[in-house]
Amino acid sequence: MNIDISGIAKLYGTFLDVHFSEEIENLNYSEQKIEFTSPVNVSGIITNLGQIFIFEGSVHTSFKTICDRCLEEYQSDLDFNISEKFANEQQNNMDDINVFHGDTIDLKDAILSNIILNLPLRFVCSENCKGLCSVCGNNKNIKKCDCKEDNIDPRLEKLKSLFKIN
Ligand SMILES: [Zn+2]
Ligand SMILES: [Zn+2]
Repeated sequence: MNIDISGIAKLYGTFLDVHFSEEIENLNYSEQKIEFTSPVNVSGIITNLGQIFIFEGSVHTSFKTICDRCLEEYQSDLDFNISEKFANEQQNNMDDINVFHGDTIDLKDAILSNIILNLPLRFVCSENCKGLCSVCGNNKNIKKCDCKEDNIDPRLEKLKSLFKIN
Protein backbone atom coordinates (compact mmCIF):
# COMPACT_ATOMS: atom_id res chain seq x y z
CA MET A 1 0.00 0.00 0.00
CA ASN A 2 2.97 2.25 -0.67
CA ILE A 3 2.04 5.34 -2.68
CA ASP A 4 4.72 7.37 -4.46
CA ILE A 5 3.82 11.03 -3.93
CA SER A 6 6.89 12.55 -5.59
CA GLY A 7 4.67 13.93 -8.40
CA ILE A 8 2.66 16.10 -5.98
CA ALA A 9 5.25 16.62 -3.22
CA LYS A 10 6.37 20.08 -4.33
CA LEU A 11 3.16 21.89 -5.18
CA TYR A 12 0.41 22.91 -2.75
CA GLY A 13 -3.07 21.86 -3.87
CA THR A 14 -1.99 19.14 -6.26
CA PHE A 15 -3.50 15.71 -5.80
CA LEU A 16 -3.03 12.12 -6.78
CA ASP A 17 -5.64 9.47 -7.58
CA VAL A 18 -5.23 6.33 -5.53
CA HIS A 19 -6.81 3.03 -6.58
CA PHE A 20 -5.66 -0.36 -5.52
CA SER A 21 -6.80 -3.74 -4.41
CA GLU A 22 -4.70 -5.72 -2.00
CA GLU A 23 -5.00 -8.89 0.06
CA ILE A 24 -4.63 -8.41 3.81
CA GLU A 25 -3.95 -10.82 6.62
CA ASN A 26 -6.73 -12.17 8.78
CA LEU A 27 -7.28 -10.45 12.11
CA ASN A 28 -7.78 -11.64 15.63
CA TYR A 29 -9.90 -8.91 17.11
CA SER A 30 -10.95 -9.21 20.78
CA GLU A 31 -11.04 -13.04 20.51
CA GLN A 32 -12.98 -12.83 17.26
CA LYS A 33 -11.31 -14.29 14.17
CA ILE A 34 -11.91 -12.08 11.14
CA GLU A 35 -11.14 -13.84 7.86
CA PHE A 36 -11.08 -11.55 4.84
CA THR A 37 -12.88 -13.06 1.89
CA SER A 38 -12.01 -10.40 -0.66
CA PRO A 39 -9.05 -8.08 -1.15
CA VAL A 40 -9.26 -4.60 0.31
CA ASN A 41 -10.38 -2.22 -2.45
CA VAL A 42 -9.27 1.34 -1.90
CA SER A 43 -10.21 4.33 -4.00
CA GLY A 44 -9.49 7.95 -3.18
CA ILE A 45 -7.16 10.90 -3.52
CA ILE A 46 -4.11 12.23 -1.70
CA THR A 47 -3.93 16.03 -1.65
CA ASN A 48 -0.91 18.19 -0.88
CA LEU A 49 -1.97 20.71 1.80
CA GLY A 50 1.48 22.13 2.39
CA GLN A 51 2.68 20.79 5.74
CA ILE A 52 0.42 17.81 5.51
CA PHE A 53 -1.01 15.45 2.93
CA ILE A 54 -4.55 14.27 3.32
CA PHE A 55 -5.83 10.95 2.06
CA GLU A 56 -9.59 10.75 1.53
CA GLY A 57 -11.28 7.76 0.03
CA SER A 58 -13.50 4.77 0.39
CA VAL A 59 -12.64 1.25 1.38
CA HIS A 60 -14.48 -1.93 0.55
CA THR A 61 -13.83 -5.48 1.66
CA SER A 62 -15.72 -8.47 3.01
CA PHE A 63 -15.05 -10.90 5.80
CA LYS A 64 -16.37 -14.00 7.44
CA THR A 65 -16.54 -14.71 11.13
CA ILE A 66 -18.59 -16.55 13.75
CA CYS A 67 -21.97 -15.22 14.87
CA ASP A 68 -22.04 -14.34 18.59
CA ARG A 69 -25.54 -15.75 18.98
CA CYS A 70 -25.82 -18.93 16.88
CA LEU A 71 -22.08 -19.71 16.51
CA GLU A 72 -22.47 -20.26 12.75
CA GLU A 73 -20.02 -18.76 10.30
CA TYR A 74 -21.39 -15.89 8.24
CA GLN A 75 -20.10 -13.40 5.71
CA SER A 76 -20.46 -9.64 5.75
CA ASP A 77 -19.44 -6.66 3.60
CA LEU A 78 -17.45 -3.83 5.09
CA ASP A 79 -17.68 -0.41 3.42
CA PHE A 80 -16.56 2.86 4.90
CA ASN A 81 -15.01 6.23 4.14
CA ILE A 82 -11.58 7.13 5.35
CA SER A 83 -9.81 10.43 5.95
CA GLU A 84 -6.25 10.43 7.28
CA LYS A 85 -3.53 13.05 7.50
CA PHE A 86 0.13 12.38 6.80
CA ALA A 87 3.20 14.48 7.52
CA ASN A 88 6.81 13.98 6.60
CA GLU A 89 8.92 12.71 9.49
CA GLN A 90 10.75 16.07 9.60
CA GLN A 91 7.55 17.96 10.41
CA ASN A 92 6.27 18.54 13.90
CA ASN A 93 3.63 15.91 14.23
CA MET A 94 0.50 15.73 16.27
CA ASP A 95 -1.34 12.67 17.52
CA ASP A 96 -3.79 12.31 14.68
CA ILE A 97 -1.17 12.62 11.98
CA ASN A 98 0.56 9.63 10.41
CA VAL A 99 4.25 9.92 9.62
CA PHE A 100 5.80 9.07 6.28
CA HIS A 101 9.36 8.90 5.06
CA GLY A 102 10.82 10.32 1.86
CA ASP A 103 8.37 10.40 -1.03
CA THR A 104 6.37 7.35 -0.08
CA ILE A 105 3.15 7.24 1.93
CA ASP A 106 2.34 3.79 3.28
CA LEU A 107 -1.42 3.61 3.76
CA LYS A 108 -1.42 0.16 5.34
CA ASP A 109 -1.51 1.04 9.06
CA ALA A 110 -4.10 3.77 8.53
CA ILE A 111 -6.32 1.41 6.53
CA LEU A 112 -5.95 -1.41 9.06
CA SER A 113 -6.84 0.80 12.00
CA ASN A 114 -9.85 2.14 10.09
CA ILE A 115 -10.98 -1.41 9.32
CA ILE A 116 -10.87 -2.23 13.05
CA LEU A 117 -12.73 0.99 13.86
CA ASN A 118 -15.47 0.11 11.39
CA LEU A 119 -16.03 -3.48 12.48
CA PRO A 120 -19.43 -3.98 14.13
CA LEU A 121 -19.69 -3.88 17.93
CA ARG A 122 -21.53 -7.22 17.92
CA PHE A 123 -20.96 -9.90 15.33
CA VAL A 124 -24.36 -11.28 14.41
CA CYS A 125 -25.29 -13.16 11.22
CA SER A 126 -28.54 -11.19 11.06
CA GLU A 127 -30.43 -8.78 13.29
CA ASN A 128 -33.08 -11.50 13.59
CA CYS A 129 -30.73 -14.30 14.57
CA LYS A 130 -32.53 -16.34 17.25
CA GLY A 131 -29.34 -17.90 18.60
CA LEU A 132 -28.99 -21.21 20.39
CA CYS A 133 -31.42 -22.79 22.83
CA SER A 134 -29.91 -22.45 26.30
CA VAL A 135 -31.28 -25.89 27.25
CA CYS A 136 -30.45 -28.23 24.36
CA GLY A 137 -28.07 -26.10 22.27
CA ASN A 138 -30.28 -26.34 19.18
CA ASN A 139 -29.82 -23.58 16.59
CA LYS A 140 -33.22 -21.89 16.76
CA ASN A 141 -32.78 -20.36 13.30
CA ILE A 142 -32.87 -23.84 11.77
CA LYS A 143 -35.53 -25.61 13.81
CA LYS A 144 -37.72 -25.12 16.84
CA CYS A 145 -37.34 -27.18 19.96
CA ASP A 146 -39.80 -27.69 22.80
CA CYS A 147 -37.47 -26.73 25.60
CA LYS A 148 -38.71 -24.33 28.22
CA GLU A 149 -35.98 -21.72 28.38
CA ASP A 150 -35.95 -20.02 31.73
CA ASN A 151 -35.13 -16.42 30.96
CA ILE A 152 -36.55 -15.01 34.17
CA ASP A 153 -34.20 -12.78 36.08
CA PRO A 154 -33.50 -14.48 39.46
CA ARG A 155 -34.24 -11.18 41.25
CA LEU A 156 -37.72 -11.14 39.72
CA GLU A 157 -38.18 -14.75 40.74
CA LYS A 158 -37.56 -13.78 44.32
CA LEU A 159 -40.07 -10.91 44.15
CA LYS A 160 -42.58 -13.32 42.69
CA SER A 161 -42.32 -15.63 45.67
CA LEU A 162 -42.60 -12.70 48.08
CA PHE A 163 -45.83 -11.50 46.53
CA LYS A 164 -47.09 -14.93 45.55
CA ILE A 165 -48.04 -13.86 42.06
CA ASN A 166 -48.20 -17.04 40.04
ZN1 LIG B 1 -26.50 -16.07 14.10
ZN1 LIG C 1 -33.94 -26.60 23.06
